[in-house]
Amino acid sequence: MGFFTKDVAIDLGTANTIIYVKGKGIVVREPSVVAIDRYTGKVVAAGSAADEMIGRTPENIIAVRPMKDGVIADFDITQAMIRQFIRLANVVSVLKPRVLVSIPSGITEVERRAVEEAVIQAGAKEAALIEEPMAAAIGAGLPVNKAAGSMVVDIGGGTTEVAVISLGGIVSSRSIRIAGDALDSSIVNYLKKNIGINIGDKMAEEIKIAIGSAYEDNEEEVYDVRGRDVSTGLPRTVQIRESQIREAMSENIAEMIEAVKMTLEHTPPELAADVMERGITLTGGGALIKGLDKLISETVKIPALVAEYPLDCVAIGTGKALEDMKSLLAKSKKNY
Ligand code: ADP
Ligand code: MG
Repeated sequence: MGFFTKDVAIDLGTANTIIYVKGKGIVVREPSVVAIDRYTGKVVAAGSAADEMIGRTPENIIAVRPMKDGVIADFDITQAMIRQFIRLANVVSVLKPRVLVSIPSGITEVERRAVEEAVIQAGAKEAALIEEPMAAAIGAGLPVNKAAGSMVVDIGGGTTEVAVISLGGIVSSRSIRIAGDALDSSIVNYLKKNIGINIGDKMAEEIKIAIGSAYEDNEEEVYDVRGRDVSTGLPRTVQIRESQIREAMSENIAEMIEAVKMTLEHTPPELAADVMERGITLTGGGALIKGLDKLISETVKIPALVAEYPLDCVAIGTGKALEDMKSLLAKSKKNY
């Protein structure tokens, strides 16, 4: 093998972090979770290893999601997590990699610098950032550089990002802190209030993925949910119907759709007309909610389509954007 600098793309998601290496593809796909020792503050594990510790860790080990709610809740822990994942990707050698990181569009300038710094400290030679919706659009194969409006809706764990892109830039966008995690908590609350059963976020996510749907159809799936009875405190199994989960999620989903409408309202008419013609592309894990494409199509009256690999779009798009790293670096330097 010759000496060359590896180019690395990181999708720093609130739920999952994905690392893409130019010429290799996706090499790391891990939940954005870190397990830390409460007393020493040291990172014990990151990713799936840490995820498995949630709820069953000894008292001194706590599992945290440093990117919860679409923002960096903890700088140091986020930095440690990025370091661990870069190590996993095995890309830091004699020649340091150039790294492009996709970040939620809502994060602050201070947080942007913290991410860049984290990546540099993790062994990168250079670091640049790309906004998530742009990366998602590129990864979904949308013609972002054309003089035509493309709309992407990226539904992740912490945020739903809606953006209209034209000529390589974001024309109008909206970022709301209602996405996969919010759906999970709504399911938790619904089951507590309406069924009298307490469940954890993990169980709620499992139910959402198994039978969650946004659009009513003829078949109705059911799921056996194990939880704890609210009044007796004892374990209990209840059969939950798809329609109940749809009801639990409906308010959050309505807010996502509202964000789509608002973004369209703030889009210049010519570009909005392009979107009407070309449709809306859904990316992120939330795009996989059954019937969401259909509900959006009907409510907004614009066809909505799920991207081919919704969970990988941002990482793939960030990887593709690596080619333009030089110009991105030049741009990001101008901001300082
Ligand atoms: P992020 O970019 O914030 O890391 P992702 O795009 O990786 O988020 O999506 C993670 C979210 O997608 C989680 O809330 C997860 O529960 C949800 N998700 C993943 N698969 C599905 C599915 N099949 N149906 C519904 N939601 C899903
Ligand atoms: Mg994402």
